[in-house]
Amino acid sequence: MRITALAGGVGGAKLAHGLAQILPPEDLTIIVNTGDDFEHLGLYICPDLDTVCYTLAGLANPQTGWGRANETWNAMANLKRLGAPDWFNLGDSDLATHIERTRRLKEGQTLSQITRDFCKAWGVKHTVLPMSDQPVRTIVETEEGDLPFQEYFVHRKCEPRVKGFRFEGADVAEPAPGTREALQSAEAVVICPSNPWVSIDPILRVLSLTLSPLRPPSPLPLGEGKGGWGEGVRVAVSPIIGGQTVKGPAAKMFSELGIEPSALAVAKHYGALLTGFVMDETDAQLREEVRGLNMRVLVTNTLMQSLDDRMQLASEVVNFIREAI
Ligand code: GDP
Repeated sequence: MRITALAGGVGGAKLAHGLAQILPPEDLTIIVNTGDDFEHLGLYICPDLDTVCYTLAGLANPQTGWGRANETWNAMANLKRLGAPDWFNLGDSDLATHIERTRRLKEGQTLSQITRDFCKAWGVKHTVLPMSDQPVRTIVETEEGDLPFQEYFVHRKCEPRVKGFRFEGADVAEPAPGTREALQSAEAVVICPSNPWVSIDPILRVLSLTLSPLRPPSPLPLGEGKGGWGEGVRVAVSPIIGGQTVKGPAAKMFSELGIEPSALAVAKHYGALLTGFVMDETDAQLREEVRGLNMRVLVTNTLMQSLDDRMQLASEVVNFIREAI
């Protein structure tokens, strides 16, 4: 079964990794958010893309979920001593990725070419695509003014109250080569348990999918826009469990935007885009309300603490999709 997954960083990477364990390379494409990308210390950094690739390659730090395992921090310590900005941690092995990517971009290679080469070098067999080769920048609109995403997320530790989001460049950015084909040929699109506001929405925007809250539950927006989604099953896995995030600011963002954070809120957020929704057994009581949004529902354990959890959730998602086809 051919699946195209949409993913941000840590949460998305975990399910993508599970799917990669059970699907052959030709059956899984992962389209990754690049709205978090930024330039720092003269380097072009793609946090979500790197998290997904490191995770699939088995190179990710198992404690943090981002960065590299067995990392050393000599460059960072020396940069700090020289007075360089030190709010964004870059390990020595990770730095090699950013240095080489920056060099290749300056030479004129595209982000998708570079990602393909890096995946090959790291032994990642499934296809990982950035959502676009052109820059898209997520801006967090806060009560303290507009902040570029990493400034909000890392430097300001998500403290400023959120008022909204902008994805600069998203309306003119072309979907990266291969994304359109991956969406059209997939039997199912899986929206991984990533932050809906800042990890998935930028991808949906670049692929020209209307963001949902105000849309009626049907008809489904099929085959429209730059991305041209084929007809098929579209399933999201909730990143919110028991009203809370496993990690990161998604729940805080829902609250600050006046929406009670819950799996139901996530399902409503994607709305008519979805034909199915996967949520945690902690949230079983919301099942009927989510069904009422005109989508099929799978209730299961969605907390991925081990490789087994990732594979278990991935195979349940695949079975859920099979039942729907
Ligand atoms: P980031 O860019 O690294 O913040 O990555 P993502 O947007 O992909 O991931 C953040 C989201 O993943 C948060 O909303 C978390 O609640 C969610 N998440 C992380 N781990 C898990 C997990 O094991 N299960 C589920 N269901 N969600 C998770």
